[in-house]
Amino acid sequence: MLRIYCPYCREAREEEEFHCKGEAHIRRPTEPDETSDATWGSYLYFRKNPRGRHLEMWVHAAGCRKYFNVVRDTVTYVIESSYPMGQAAPPTPTAALVSVASANPGDVP
Ligand SMILES: [Zn+2]
Repeated sequence: MLRIYCPYCREAREEEEFHCKGEAHIRRPTEPDETSDATWGSYLYFRKNPRGRHLEMWVHAAGCRKYFNVVRDTVTYVIESSYPMGQAAPPTPTAALVSVASANPGDVP
């Protein structure tokens, strides 16, 4: 069971109140008539399916009915953050990777 923080209601609620709407931050091609079939097909049908950190769009269906984005780990289900639509995605936390790499310099390729 996930507890998801809605940035509009400003509280964490049970997962049943929400629906996942897939990958976040997908941009429609700005010039559809000049877009190649491959690019248009990629926009329509192909989505990332990472193992790990994933940017997802959710809707608070049984609450405020607003869409927002969530950063969730697809392996552990841990939600890193949620933020309103239109806001830039939070950067990947590379500081933790750097500290791990410096602690184990022999493990870095
Ligand atoms: Zn809400």
